[in-house]
This record gives sequence, structure tokens and C-alpha cells, in this order.
Amino acid sequence: MALSTSKLAKLGSYHGGICIKCRQVSKWLPSSLRTLLNMDSLQTRQIGDPILRQEAEIVDITTIHSPEFKQMVERMFKVMRKADAYGISAPQIGVGLRVIAVEFTGKNFKDLKTRGMNDKEIKRLGFSLVTPRVFINPEYRVIDSTLLAFREGCLSVEGYSAIVPRAKEIEVSGLDMEARPITWRTMGWPARMVQHEVEHLKGNLFVDSMLYKSFMKNDWRKYIKK
Ligand SMILES: [Zn+2]
Repeated sequence: MALSTSKLAKLGSYHGGICIKCRQVSKWLPSSLRTLLNMDSLQTRQIGDPILRQEAEIVDITTIHSPEFKQMVERMFKVMRKADAYGISAPQIGVGLRVIAVEFTGKNFKDLKTRGMNDKEIKRLGFSLVTPRVFINPEYRVIDSTLLAFREGCLSVEGYSAIVPRAKEIEVSGLDMEARPITWRTMGWPARMVQHEVEHLKGNLFVDSMLYKSFMKNDWRKYIKK
């Protein structure tokens, strides 16, 4: 199902009201995506890379229906899963389009426990299973603005983490892979994941909203001489 221009304009209005932008065909035409996907690197772009600081572009309907776009989303999942991450945005694989993917699997749960997190802590942080979800041109509204401050990391700031305050509950809306409008109301850690990924599309990283003194290298203990 294709969307009307007015619906697209609504989805586009989130970005500074430049509605005209979403009627234009993105520069990430399928051919450019194809060139990019020919590179089989599963690395993520790292902080300092200008693409992580640019505002990502609205995805047009033609692009959504192209096989190259589907391949790009598959690549996003591949990169995310390889790194045992729970979320990813298109700019992190070098594509400046407004697309995010999130997922939290049973394996991710198991890994948390292996790393020493107990059930009480898992509940406190609000983890819950999330089936693979893709949001194209996402925007979210805050349902519960209570700020929860927990430590998080990012595939594009490899090896570091910090405490970041984020809203407790949100509702995200956007388009799915068939270009149909979708919404998802979620709270706890999944709400954190969505907020983190949508920030990427605005050129923001967690280091911009972290509690600065909590920033740390994850393996800092390794550097203490015994
Ligand atoms: Zn990130």
C-alpha cells in the first residue's frame, strides 16, 4: 500500500517542518545502495565519521519498494546481530536514510545473565523480548516523561559506555517494509533503544546527552596493574 503525499508530509514534518523534502526522491537511489551493498564489510561507522553527524534523509516510497533497500535492511540486521547489539540505524552502516531496526532476543537475555546480571537487575532496567522491528521515517512521542538514567553503549562508539537519561515510555510511528504506517507503544529498555536509534537519524550520539562523568572505557579495569 502506497502512502499519500499528505501522509508522507506528516511523517516528514518531524524534521524541522521541511515537508517539501519528503516529496523529493532521496539521493540514496537504489543504484547508490547497490554500490554500497557490494562492500561486504560488517563494520559499523565510528564516531568522527561525518555521516553520523548528518541528519538522515526521509526515505521515499520508490526506495522502500526496491530490492536494494530490502538488502540494506538485511545488512543492518546482520551487522547488529554480529555485534550482539539490540538496535541499529542506517547511518551506522554508511547510509544516510531514516531507518532504524531493533530486536531483543532470548539469546540476548541469556547473554545478560552470562555477564552476571540477575533477574532483579534485568527487571529494573526494563528489558523485554522484542521481535525484529524496522521503522522507516520514524518519529516518537513521549508517553511517560519520567527520566530513567541507565548505562548504555553504541556500535559507533565502540568500547565505551555512559549513563544516559531517557524517557520511560514512548510511542514510535513510521512505515514498515511494505510502506504501511505502523505505531508501537513501548516502555523500559525497548523505549530506550528506540530513542537512541532515532537520535542517530538526527546526527546525535549518546555522548551528546550522557551524564559526562559516567563516560567510561568498558574494559578500564584491564589497565590497572596488579
Ligand atoms: Zn548507537
